[in-house]
Amino acid sequence: MFNKILIANRGEIACRVAATARRMAVKTVAVYSDADANAKHVAACDEAVYLGGSAPKDSYLRWEKIIEAALRTGAQAIHPGYGFLSENDEFATACAAAGLVFIGPPASAIQAMGLKAESKQLMEKAGVRLVPGYHGADQDPALLQAQADAIGYPVLIKASAGGGGKGMRVVDASAGFAAALASCKREAINSFGDDAVLIEKYVQRPRHIEIQVFGDTQGNYVYLFERDCSVQRRHQKVLEEAPAPGITEAFRQQMGEAAVAAARAVNYVGAGTVEFIVEQQPDGAMQFYFMEMNTRLQVEHPVTEAITGLDLVEWQLRVASGEPLPLQQHALKIQGHAIEARICAENPDNNFLPATGTLQVYGLPVHTTFERAPHATRVDSGVRQGDTISPFYDSMVAKLIVHGANRAEALARMDAALAATHIVGLATNVQFLRHVTTSASFAQADLDTGLIPREAAALFHQEKVGLALATAALLAHTLLQEQTLAAQADARGWIDPWARRDGWKSHGPSVRAFTLEFQGERHTALLTTLHGAGEPQRQLQIGGTTEALGYAATAEGALDIRLGAQRARVQVYTKGDVAHVFTAGGATQIVAIDALAHAGDTHSDVGRLTAPMPGKVVSFAVKAGDKVTKGQPLAVLDAMKMEHTIAAPVDGTVAELLFAPGDQVTDGAELLRMEAAA
Ligand code: ADP
Ligand code: ADP
Ligand code: MG
Repeated sequence: MFNKILIANRGEIACRVAATARRMAVKTVAVYSDADANAKHVAACDEAVYLGGSAPKDSYLRWEKIIEAALRTGAQAIHPGYGFLSENDEFATACAAAGLVFIGPPASAIQAMGLKAESKQLMEKAGVRLVPGYHGADQDPALLQAQADAIGYPVLIKASAGGGGKGMRVVDASAGFAAALASCKREAINSFGDDAVLIEKYVQRPRHIEIQVFGDTQGNYVYLFERDCSVQRRHQKVLEEAPAPGITEAFRQQMGEAAVAAARAVNYVGAGTVEFIVEQQPDGAMQFYFMEMNTRLQVEHPVTEAITGLDLVEWQLRVASGEPLPLQQHALKIQGHAIEARICAENPDNNFLPATGTLQVYGLPVHTTFERAPHATRVDSGVRQGDTISPFYDSMVAKLIVHGANRAEALARMDAALAATHIVGLATNVQFLRHVTTSASFAQADLDTGLIPREAAALFHQEKVGLALATAALLAHTLLQEQTLAAQADARGWIDPWARRDGWKSHGPSVRAFTLEFQGERHTALLTTLHGAGEPQRQLQIGGTTEALGYAATAEGALDIRLGAQRARVQVYTKGDVAHVFTAGGATQIVAIDALAHAGDTHSDVGRLTAPMPGKVVSFAVKAGDKVTKGQPLAVLDAMKMEHTIAAPVDGTVAELLFAPGDQVTDGAELLRMEAAA
C-alpha cells in the first residue's frame, strides 16, 4: 500500500478520498487554487500544495504542476477524483513517465473510451449492444442529415468528446436538424475543443441504468451491480439509486456481464462505470444499449457502497497498489436500497440557474448508522458554513446518501435528511429535491429520464409553508429575541422599556402591527397580546384570519409553534430583514419590512439586463431597435459550464447591445438595455 497519495481534485470528492486514505493510514497531499486557499479539502489532507489561479486551467488542470507537487512531497500515487484530469489519458501517461501511479485505468483504456464515437465502434466489435445510430468519422453535414433521416426522428446529436450532459441536442424533425447540429458543434468546440458528433436514435421513455465495474492488474473483473440514474435535468443526474427498481435478476446479470465485457475489451483496471440506456417497451419488456463508459469513480458511487457495504476508494487504492480485487463476483451481495441526492447551488424555479454566494447557514443532517452498512444517512460535503460557492467550479455542494432495508424506508430517510438540510445564503435545489422524491412518479418508482418534465406541475414554484405559519415563525423568533434582550437588560440592572415592547405593559391588551413581504406581496400582521395572570395570551391576525398563537424555544434552538389547531416545529434564521423559515414540510422566506426604511422602495429596474454570473456572451438573439415580448430570448451566456438564456422581463424595445459575442462579462454586468413598452 502507498504511504502517501496526492489528491488532484477539490470539493466533496477530494474530502471523500482523503477520509478513506486516513482510515487506511495513507498520508494525503491536497492541491488548491486561489479560490480554495481555505477550502475544506485542504484542511482534510495532511499537507497542501498551491497550484495557481481560480480558473481550472490555471490550477486543477495544470498537470505538470500537479506531477511536480507529487514528486516534491514524496507522494507515490495520484487520485484524480472525477471531472478535471480524471479522464485525461495524457495526464495518466505523464504520471507513469514520472514514476507515479495514476489511481485509475491505464491511459490506453481512458483513450479507448474517451470519445463516444470511437468507443462505440470498439463496443460493437466486442459484441456489446449499441443504440441504433451513426458514429462514423465522416462529419459532412449533409451526410449527418441523411443519417438522421435514415435513423428516424427524434434523434439525439451528441458531441463525441462530450460529458457532464453537455453537447447534446434532441431533434424532433428533419427541418430542425441543421440548426441543432450547428448549436451542438458550437458548444462542443467551446467545451471540449472537438466538434465531432455522433447521432443516435432518441430512445423514448428511457431509463439510465449503469453498472459499476472493477478490474485488477491480474485480469480479474467484477460488477458491483447497477445504479438507476434516470432522474435527470438537462441530461445531468439529480437522484441516483441502487438497486434499479423493477428489474429482474436475469436482466441485472445480463447488464453486469455486458459491462464486464466492455471493461475487458479495453483491459480496464480500477473503478469504472458502464452506462446503458434502457428502453421500456409498452408491453413492459426492457432492452439495454451501451451508451458510454466513464473511466473513473462516479459522483454517485456511494449508493453502490451503501448496498454492498464496501468502500470503493479503498478498492481503488488496493488495486492501484497492485493487490488483487478484494472480493470475487460470487461474494458480492445487494443489501437493502440506497438513494443519493445531489445538493446543488442553483435555482430550479429559474431554469436551474447556478447560484453563487456565501453559505451563511449550512445545517446538514447528522450521519446515522444502519445495521451492517456504515450509514443510514451519509453526508458527503466539500464545504463548511461560511464558505463561498464561487462561479469557478461545479455547482454541486454536497451529496446526501440514505440507505434502508427497502426503497420505502430509504425514501422516508431521504425526506427526513432533506428536511434537516438548512442552507441560507444562496439558492439551492433542496426543496426541489424534496418535491421530486415525494412526487407520485418517484414514490412509485415510475422512473425514466422524462420524470422531471412529467411531474413539473408538482416540482416547480411550490410553496409548502403558508403565509400564516411563516408569519407566526417570524414573530415568534422576533419576540423571543426581544425577550432575550430584555432579560439581558434586566440582568445588567437597567430597565429599558423599549427593549421590552412585549411585556412592559402590564395590564390590558397591547396590539402591534408588522408589515411583511411574502412571495412578493405585502401584508400587515396584527399581534394582540393579552396580559393577565400567568402566560400572556396572543392572537395573530394575518391574511384574513385570526388565530391563537403560542410558541416555545426547544433545547435544539428550534421553535415549537402553535397556531390555532396547527402545531409545527420550525427553525428560523434571519439575515438582515429576511427570515428563512424551515419546517418539516418545507422552507420559505419572509421579509419583515421596516416601513420607514423602505418607503418608496422600488424593484422595477426593467431597463437593465444584467449577467446573473460571470461568463462569456455566446450570442444575441436580438439587435437594437427590435420589439420584444416578455419571455423572449435576448442573449445567450455561457457560464459555469452551461449555456443560459437571458429573456426579456417585460414587453418592450431593445435600446442597445452593450457587448459582442465572445466577450467575457462580470457578475452583474449590463448586457443590453431595453425600454419597457408603455
Ligand atoms: P457523473 O455521471 O459521475 O455525474 P458527469 O459526467 O456528470 O458524471 O461528471 C462528473 C463530474 O465531473 C461532475 O461533477 C461534473 O460537473 C464534472 N465534469 C463533467 N464534465 C466536466 C468538464 N467538462 N469540466 C469540468 N468538470 C466536468
Ligand atoms: P454524458 O457524457 O454527458 O454523461 P451520455 O451519453 O452518458 O452523456 O448521456 C447523458 C444522458 O443523456 C443519459 O443519461 C440519458 O438521459 C440521455 N441520453 C443519452 N443518449 C440517449 C438516447 N440515445 N436516447 C435518449 N436519451 C439519451
Ligand atoms: Mg454519461
